[in-house]
Amino acid sequence: MRLLVTGGAGFIGSNFVRRIVDGTLSGISSITVLDKLTYAGRLSNLNMLPKDSFEFIKGDICDSTLIDSLTKKSDAVINFAAESHVDRSITAARDFVETNILGTQTLMSYALKNEVSTFVQVSTDEVYGTIDEGSWSEESPLLPNSPYSASKASADLIARSYHRTFGLDVRVTRCSNNYGPHQYPEKVIPLFVTNLIDGKKVPLYGNGLNVRDWLHVDDHCKGIHAVLNKGKPGQIYNIGGGRELNNRELTDTILALMGRDSTSIEYVEDRLGHDLRYSVSHEKISRELGYQPQVTFEQGLLETINWYKENESWWRPLKI
Ligand code: NAD
Repeated sequence: MRLLVTGGAGFIGSNFVRRIVDGTLSGISSITVLDKLTYAGRLSNLNMLPKDSFEFIKGDICDSTLIDSLTKKSDAVINFAAESHVDRSITAARDFVETNILGTQTLMSYALKNEVSTFVQVSTDEVYGTIDEGSWSEESPLLPNSPYSASKASADLIARSYHRTFGLDVRVTRCSNNYGPHQYPEKVIPLFVTNLIDGKKVPLYGNGLNVRDWLHVDDHCKGIHAVLNKGKPGQIYNIGGGRELNNRELTDTILALMGRDSTSIEYVEDRLGHDLRYSVSHEKISRELGYQPQVTFEQGLLETINWYKENESWWRPLKI
């Protein structure tokens, strides 16, 4: 299978590429990575790989001419490319609309034209909004609350329309919060870990009671790989099953693993429109595709902290 990986220089996309190259994820004969290299895209996420193990193209998923030529030589597309940080979407929403909606539509229109066999749209559980009790199934309504999640939900609906109207084989994945190595240090876990390495405090939003499900990036990539190979056209698959924690519990766990206490916490004004709780059911992907998360939160978090301790040259230039 000749695979086009968009956003493959970012956190999750580059992890997916590294896991293909190291043999963890099988069945891919060639990889083309397309990435615009925004502030979040880093060639250093890929430069440990043999040069001949993938082709890298710097470019924009909104560029019709480029996407036409790349989809012509691809059997499958996985679209990781996105503006992905909720806080940035609150101050500058336009980039989110352009890349996350228009870019996705551009990719799908040329995937259709050039008869790409399978298109996996990597989405997020944030499209469901917030839930007080229980967990979302794939049938739950889309009620996004931030410009980021609204743009991702829009892309999910574009995906649905390309399947229903044109018969394009699109599969959508909706995953919970990811953590792991190579995550840009604006996101909460690497932000807190790198602050603590520097002896600084960690900024905790509001009362710290917002709940998220934390999934290791390797488990997310295994779920996407299962959807690519065994999923069905037009279907949506939630991916989750890491660990549900509120932000205070997450912070306390990081502080304990790094030998600090609550005096390192600085409470800051809450994010606008901050969703209280996310919780996805991954029952469908487990039952139909045999997906099960493998990495325990304790082990994955410890390894992630150690990665940031050992790879200061990767994150130091990215700290504000
Ligand atoms: P990221 O910000 O680390 O990576 C995004 C990548 O997309 C970057 O390399 C960036 O340069 C590239 N990109 C941005 N705009 C582009 C454009 N117009 N054309 C080409 N490339 C472009 O994000 P991530 O955390 O790796 O997330 C990847 C995908 O997974 C996103 O679609 C995100 O919505 C989704 N997701 C993320 C999480 C999470 O917890 N990080 C959870 C669920 C779903």
